[in-house]
Amino acid sequence: MRGRASRNVVAGAAGKCSPQDSSMNATGVRMVTRSRSRGPGAGSRGGGEKAAPLWKGEAAAEGRKSPSPSRHRRKTQKLNVAYDREEEDTKPPRAPSWEPRDWRQQLLNIRAMRSGKDAPVDWLGVEHCYDSDAPPKVRRYQVLLSLMLSSQTKDQVTAGAMQRLRARGLTVDSILQTDDSTLGTLIYPVGFWRSKVKYIKQTSAILQQRYGGDIPDSVAELVALPGVGPKMAHLAMAVAWGTVSGIAVDTHVHRIANRLGWTKTATNSPEKTRAALEEWLPRELWGEINGLLVGFGQQTCLPVHPRCQGCLNRTLCPAARGL
Ligand code: SF4
Repeated sequence: MRGRASRNVVAGAAGKCSPQDSSMNATGVRMVTRSRSRGPGAGSRGGGEKAAPLWKGEAAAEGRKSPSPSRHRRKTQKLNVAYDREEEDTKPPRAPSWEPRDWRQQLLNIRAMRSGKDAPVDWLGVEHCYDSDAPPKVRRYQVLLSLMLSSQTKDQVTAGAMQRLRARGLTVDSILQTDDSTLGTLIYPVGFWRSKVKYIKQTSAILQQRYGGDIPDSVAELVALPGVGPKMAHLAMAVAWGTVSGIAVDTHVHRIANRLGWTKTATNSPEKTRAALEEWLPRELWGEINGLLVGFGQQTCLPVHPRCQGCLNRTLCPAARGL
């Protein structure tokens, strides 16, 4: 499963995975401009960094003062993941020293090609696989779980696994009470299902012990969980917490960015692509890129035999000539 354009905060959207979610189309994500590593007792999201208004009401409904699980915190692991620096809050955006020559027109073309919103990611993506009637922290857990299931797995397969899990009541406790064999049967045939059984169990135990059954609200803490990588963390921040913390780069985004020349030099990993894109792409577009390019990669810019003849970027794409 991959990311989407104009993500909805966990409040959801419709889809085959959870068709009842259609009433929950909601809030756009917000941009984060400061570090999220905090010590125990620190403000939940740092000054003006509160989540979308959705969460205030929901936190109150849960009897919590804050939507953050910070009171359960914890030791923050130091990780080599790029984050925004606090001083950037007060500085105007810097013009990038480099940007791809035709990126604006290429982006417009991709938006035009994606205007039908009819790629698998548009109706089976992570926004569509959680129970919109569940309590907020359960929904956030389901978002994280669907992301963990989604790596190396088609959206359709992830959605099917989520449906089977949800049919039994998908919470941290229910997963911890499910034996490994049964959990494996439920999530099969997602990619690397055996490893994912182990990671899901380990992560669920950590969430129960340290976060009261919720998920952490920082990239640093999310990527410290077993089986959670940077792409999942950024998508979880966007969908579960309504925060754009970085560009979520999966195999589609990585491939297409390189084909279009959106990285100054060729990159050989999604993380390097993320860093390269964040160097020049305006922040207000970060939340859009994943869903836009994932669907484009599913329908047009395929991994093998991309459909260049029907692509609006064929005259602007450096890779089109060689494909
Ligand atoms: S021209 Fe071909 S390789 Fe280039 S973006 Fe379009 S489909 Fe992808």
